Amino acid sequence: MEKNAVITGSSRGIGKAIARAFSENGWGVCINYIERRDLAEELCAQLRASGGRAVAIKADVADKQQVEEMFRKAQAELGDISLLVNNAGISCHKQFQDTEPEMWKRIFDVNVFGCVNCINAALPYMLHAHEGIIINISSIWGLHGGSCESAYTASKHAVVGLTRSLSAELAPSHIRVNSIAPGVIETDMMKNELSEEELEELKKEMPLERFGSPEDVAKAALYIAEAEYMTGQAIVLEGGYLI
Ligand code: NAP
Repeated sequence: MEKNAVITGSSRGIGKAIARAFSENGWGVCINYIERRDLAEELCAQLRASGGRAVAIKADVADKQQVEEMFRKAQAELGDISLLVNNAGISCHKQFQDTEPEMWKRIFDVNVFGCVNCINAALPYMLHAHEGIIINISSIWGLHGGSCESAYTASKHAVVGLTRSLSAELAPSHIRVNSIAPGVIETDMMKNELSEEELEELKKEMPLERFGSPEDVAKAALYIAEAEYMTGQAIVLEGGYLI
């Protein structure tokens, strides 16, 4: 298998940790971003300085044309793409009545159609090669219901459903599709949503007595890449929060 990966939303947070982990394990990585070119270029330079193969490419995953262009550039720079991590995502912490239709649309455009666009762009090579790995980053709110998270929760349930359905459809082509459902992971997303006091209270509810780190999620992504007999699963990483 060609060891080249596109990891969406990898300029910071969970995606950055996944890009670093795959690079350290010999994969060429496409670092994708929408605004933070500085962070994406910085990570790219660090990975290259450590002997890795990396390229940073801007694309809004919600935009089909930009995604297709990203895959063309990534393939030209790195080679054929055999692994896709659909990580780019946005959240919305609001009561249902306060969530405007535009926000519902943008959440679904990024969190769901972002996956659809990237999978469509990745599939021609994977089908031709008769192998491939797709990892969709969902959330515990893709498996449970969270108050003040209706748009986000609905979009992350869609990601789990997409994963299950596609895994069945693509298994005969030896393309594995799995998802990861993280709990509270220490990134900008979580810090933007909750105040410091709310985070302190939440931490007390964590049986493992800490929030997850982006590196915890990266380890699960590496495991999925290696677990050749696993498809259609949602790996839950939430420190025991919702057992
Ligand atoms: P984050 O810190 O907010 O980082 C988001 C990343 O996605 C950034 O690299 C950002 O790029 C990129 N991005 C956002 N919109 C994009 C778009 N339209 N096109 C391309 N890239 C885009 O988020 P995170 O916490 O690492 O979350 C990553 C994933 O994990 C998301 O799918 C999220 O729903 C999921 N998740 C997170 C948590 C958590 O507690 N943190 C828990 C469960 C699931 P720029 O830097 O250019 O803005």
